[in-house]
Amino acid sequence: MISAKRAEALLYEWVNLPDSRMDTMPARYPEIFIFKTKKETYRVLDTVRAGLRKIWDVRDTRQRDWDICTLRGSYQKSRTREDHGLSDLFSDTTDNDFFPGLPRLTPFEAAMFYLQTGLVHRMLRCRNPECAAPYFFRTEKGQESCSPECADWSRKNYKLRWYQDSPKSSKNRSKAT
Ligand SMILES: [Zn+2]
Repeated sequence: MISAKRAEALLYEWVNLPDSRMDTMPARYPEIFIFKTKKETYRVLDTVRAGLRKIWDVRDTRQRDWDICTLRGSYQKSRTREDHGLSDLFSDTTDNDFFPGLPRLTPFEAAMFYLQTGLVHRMLRCRNPECAAPYFFRTEKGQESCSPECADWSRKNYKLRWYQDSPKSSKNRSKAT
């Protein structure tokens, strides 16, 4: 359906996607962006990006699971909207859909399920506030920054903060006397 490696790359690119590069995604992941209309494509691009950012930042496991399922459902809804036209949107609200069916197994569905079951424990946000792609999957235990460059930044910043704030730093020691 989609390899673990490709799913990870897709999610990483999507969550960090800058507005200026929105239209590069469908060409690189044609198996995900199967929509006929630009409108639906952009709706999915935007909704999923916002959803992923929320999922990355949320600390509560139950909330996170729910948010991932909501995204899986909204992708399915976009597919249905295109497959069957608008009439199906209304039948969506009947009692029969009190328990909506499991989404069809698509590369997106597979990638999101992999995120939920295999990647959530590696999701991190880079500590460098100026990082251009701050959402990442850590590859080593204890890793806190997305790259050696950002780790350097954090270290320098930590030293600077310590110098400014710590009562033990030479700056504040001289002030106290
Ligand atoms: Zn970074």
